[in-house]
Amino acid sequence: MGMIVACPPSVFPAAPRRALWPMSHLLSLSLQPKPQNAITIAVSSRALFRMEEEQRIYKEKGVEEYVRYQLEHENEPLSPGPAFPFVRALEAVNSRLRELYPDSEDLFDIVLMTNNHAQVGVRLINSINHYNLFIERFCMTGGNSPICYLKAYHTNLYLSSDEEKVSEAIGEGIAAATIFSPSKDVAVPQSQLRVAFDGDAVLFSDESEQIVKAHGLDMFFEHEKTYENKPLAQGPLKGFLEALGRLQKKFYSKGLRLECPIRTYLVTARSAASSGARALKTLRSWGLETDEALFLAGAPKGPLLEKIRPHIFFDDQMFHVTGAQEMGTVAAHVPYGVAQAPRRTAPERQAPPAAQ
Ligand SMILES: [Mg+2]
Repeated sequence: MGMIVACPPSVFPAAPRRALWPMSHLLSLSLQPKPQNAITIAVSSRALFRMEEEQRIYKEKGVEEYVRYQLEHENEPLSPGPAFPFVRALEAVNSRLRELYPDSEDLFDIVLMTNNHAQVGVRLINSINHYNLFIERFCMTGGNSPICYLKAYHTNLYLSSDEEKVSEAIGEGIAAATIFSPSKDVAVPQSQLRVAFDGDAVLFSDESEQIVKAHGLDMFFEHEKTYENKPLAQGPLKGFLEALGRLQKKFYSKGLRLECPIRTYLVTARSAASSGARALKTLRSWGLETDEALFLAGAPKGPLLEKIRPHIFFDDQMFHVTGAQEMGTVAAHVPYGVAQAPRRTAPERQAPPAAQ
């Protein structure tokens, strides 16, 4: 709680629920901690909106030209970015929760986290209002690292298109991923939030992945069989699956198990027969489950994800992220574990770069 006070005044606090608010209103609100049970999702402006042209101007012509361009186009809404359908789906879940539990604060709380110049804030707010998004918090870090703010908001998930910031967040124990636009458009469901997770180095730690890298697949199969009943340690996205599970239970207790507006998927390269049991038993030991578990035994993930049509798919290996992206899935890279470049690897487990 103290950290919220410590953040600079450029942090914009919660706006009244369901309200569309002008900039002047935002600035006048006092800082409030988030609702106790809210699940906070922080998204960057470039994750929520497409800003390629703006980014090009920033890189080629510098910050002054960039701000001037943004001011000139202030009343022109930005196009939806990779995180947009996901945010929309979170809001659809929120409205179902509000119908079923009018007094509950168990909701997704979306924070726009941006290091943009304050002048660009008006265009962002205009865009948010244009699409009727209920983004209740707005945090302009003015070039500072977002970590302090992410911690202050007890962020459950941070999505950005800046891999360095995402790596920094992961290093601080915050669930985070670099989100990519799909290469083609695949329609996603409007009334059900679908989230797909890889297993190793995403929901689980990378301990088994290390065995593969160091000793090969045969040793990995043997190892997973031997330790089938020993749960894997948790990975960076475990807490987010847990948060989704908490909301799912609220729907189940209203008799909505089959029509639950949240559906989760484990999409792993493990094979069911040789190494799948340990993954499932680990989830069970945490009191968690996914609605579907898909063991691909090394087959590509893209074609399957195209059928699932998730709003987001998390994987620690760029190979799978790219494969998903090419088939029209919004994929997000979790820069954690042994599959990353050596600089991301802990000193005691230095390994050559992963062969992807
Ligand atoms: Mg993995």
